[in-house]
Amino acid sequence: MSSNPECLFCRIVAGEIPSERLYEDDEILVFRDISPQAPFHALLIPKIHVATLNDLRAEHAEMAGRLFLVAKSLAGEHDLPAYRVVVNTNAEAGQTVFHVHMHLLAGRPMRLGLG
Ligand code: 5GP
Ligand code: ZN
Repeated sequence: MSSNPECLFCRIVAGEIPSERLYEDDEILVFRDISPQAPFHALLIPKIHVATLNDLRAEHAEMAGRLFLVAKSLAGEHDLPAYRVVVNTNAEAGQTVFHVHMHLLAGRPMRLGLG
């Protein structure tokens, strides 16, 4: 399914729920996280509905690769020399919205933690 009317992020893509958009193209949308965990915290999502990283298929490979390129460009535009990208996959890893997304976090020191 390319869009799920019950999905929060599909509703953000559709403009039904407002967001602070930072970047948009045919297949990717980037907006600020509503509850930032760092001074800069953006979410990068495909416009089509894909629930988790486990649901990505070969046909999504170019889009998935472009998510990284958009993350890199955004970090450059916002003068962020150091940043972290995170894709939480399934609830035990902290995924709360089941539309695959990449967190882009920057602006504070970060250490790899297990919590
Ligand atoms: P997850 O925990 O699934 O990896 O990340 C979901 C993220 O979506 C969380 O960081 C949360 O703050 C963010 N979020 C949840 N609801 C909204 C919303 O309505 N608008 C925006 N901009 N972010 C949201
Ligand atoms: Zn969705």
